[in-house]
Formats: sequence, C-alpha cells, structure tokens
Amino acid sequence: MEKKNLDWSNLDFGYIQTDKRYVSNFKDGAWDDGCLTSDASIVLNECAGVFQYAQTVFEGLKAYTTEDGKIVTFRPDLNAERMIDSAKRLEMPAFPKERFIDAVTQTVKANAAWVPPFGSGATLYIRPYMFGSSPVIGVSPAAEYQFRILTTPVGPYFKGGAKPITIKVSDFDRAAPHGTGHIKAGLNYAMSLHAIVTAHEEGYAENMYLDAATRTKVEETGGANFIFITKDKKVVTPKSSSILPSITRRSLLYVAKEYLGLETEEREVTLEEVPEFAECGLCGTAAVVSPVGKIVDHGREICFASGMDEMGPVTKQLYDTLTGIQMGRIEAPEGWIHVIE
Ligand SMILES: *Cc1c(COP(=O)(O)O)cnc(C)c1O
Repeated sequence: MEKKNLDWSNLDFGYIQTDKRYVSNFKDGAWDDGCLTSDASIVLNECAGVFQYAQTVFEGLKAYTTEDGKIVTFRPDLNAERMIDSAKRLEMPAFPKERFIDAVTQTVKANAAWVPPFGSGATLYIRPYMFGSSPVIGVSPAAEYQFRILTTPVGPYFKGGAKPITIKVSDFDRAAPHGTGHIKAGLNYAMSLHAIVTAHEEGYAENMYLDAATRTKVEETGGANFIFITKDKKVVTPKSSSILPSITRRSLLYVAKEYLGLETEEREVTLEEVPEFAECGLCGTAAVVSPVGKIVDHGREICFASGMDEMGPVTKQLYDTLTGIQMGRIEAPEGWIHVIE
C-alpha cells in the first residue's frame, strides 16, 4: 500500500479529508448493516434532533504505526463502552460494542494510506460520533440516528517536545453535579468554548474546572483529566461523578501501579492541597500527558517543583512507559493493542 504524500512531521491538529468513512443508520428500532462511503457530506432535514437540541455524542481515538510496521489502535473496546454510556444518558440507542470495534477496524483499513508512518509523531485520529437525524421540534429524543466514523491524520500534539503549560482556575463551571460531565457529549464542549477562548485571550493554555457545587475540589480541564504526583511519588487523580472517565488516565494509573510499582489513589482533590504536589499533568488521547508547570488561581501562582522547562520526572516515566506500550517497545497488558493490519 502506497502512503499518501503528506509532510507527516509537520501536520497540524486539524481536519484533512480522507478516502472513506463509516455510516450506519438507526431506524424503526434497529441499526442497519452499515457501510463505508466516499461521501464526506451529510444531508439532513432542517429539523433534525442534532440541530435543535444538540442530541449528539462522540468518541476519539488514534490509529498509528508501531515500530514493527503494524497499524494498531489503543483499547478501542473502552471507547465502545464509553460511547454506549454516553448514548444512554442522552436517550440515544447504543451502538453495539463488537460492531463499534469492527467499524473502527474497517474505517482504518480503508484509510491505511493515511495512517502516518512510524517515527513521524503523527497519527490517524479516529472520530466516532452519533446524532439524532430525524425531525424533532417538541422536546424529545429523535426517532432516527446516524452513527459515523471519520478519520483525519493529525500531527504530533507537541511539536518540539512537551513544554509545561500554564493554566488558570476557571470562574466558569464545566459540569453540574448529576449532570452530563461524565459523558462525551458535544454539549459539554459547546458550553466550554467561551471559557477556553477567554482563557486563551488571557494567555493561559487551559482551564482548571472546580466542582460546581462547592468550588473547592479539582475536576478536570475542558478535555483532559488531571494527574498529580506527590512528593513521595504517589500518583493521585481526582474522583468525581462529573469527570469524564479518560481512557488515558485509567491506563496511566494501571501503568503506574503494575509497571512502575508506584502507589496510586483516586480520591477527592481540593484546590487547597494542590500546592503540595510535586508534579501535575493533563491526560487525554491527543497528547497522552501534557505537563502543567503553573496554575494561576486569581493572581495566586501555584508553581510545581518540576518547573517550566520539562516534564516532571515521574510524569515523564509514566509518559515514556505508556507511549512505549502503545508503540510496541514495551509489552502491553492483554487486550490493550488492537491490531488492524
Ligand atoms: C475525551 C475527554 C477526555 C480524555 O479522554 P481520553 O479517553 O483519555 O481521550 C478528558 N476529558 C474530557 C472532558 C473529554 O471529553
């Protein structure tokens, strides 16, 4: 297979149209067989549920080339399960787990020429999503849905290495208690846009959101979970029912415990205790871990001992081990690496 002629190492994190995408429609209570199509456009009725009441959920994962030349994805079963949870919360039909994995496999295979070569730092980003496609005007779930998977090659999240970022404690809330913070829904992102644009204007890379009820506990950023490292190298991650369960974060905690022999803890983390941690990182599929060097809380600066030049030592160990597992340099736990071809 001939790879596309792209400047792989200089791709942005943006959309590039690839050859094929997967489509399946839900109608009269059942999903159809689904198929790949070359048509990148969607034609919907003007009153489709997704347009009127934002009935849509999504997932995000990556396909990449390992050192020995295989095209693989990382733990797609967890994306499948999470999308089912997201769909149920928005009264949408579940797209079955086995079908989800098969659809990801088919879509990546059909776009194999777009999967960046090993060593480029780039990956093929995979975006499964589902939306209400039939007309809705009185507030109710749609009767019909479309499930799709698009892929787009994206560059390394950090060009020239992962530099620690500065983030701010946001005055906005991301998720309400008993709301939708724990599901991957577009609506959580729509309401975060004003907060992130504002933070960027003020010179911050990201927002740290606190729990909406008391504004004393750390939740997450707009699209990544926190991990903190204590001075005695314990890995701590905030526990809350309104945090999106990041697959990267869950994998890092497993790696910390099983590969690095570190203690791990998932518990409530107060903003008050954050200055006591030695390192801080953000976890998500896009960057795996982004180091946080500084958190600004209304003028008060919380600076981590790891500084603004490089990742903290434990964060780096976690990052190197997880990316080593992903790239096939380190043996993966059973079932983590899904080989496409
Ligand atoms: C997708 C997402 C994450 C990261 O999850 P991963 O499975 O690690 O990519 C974190 N927070 C939010 C709000 C998200 O939408």
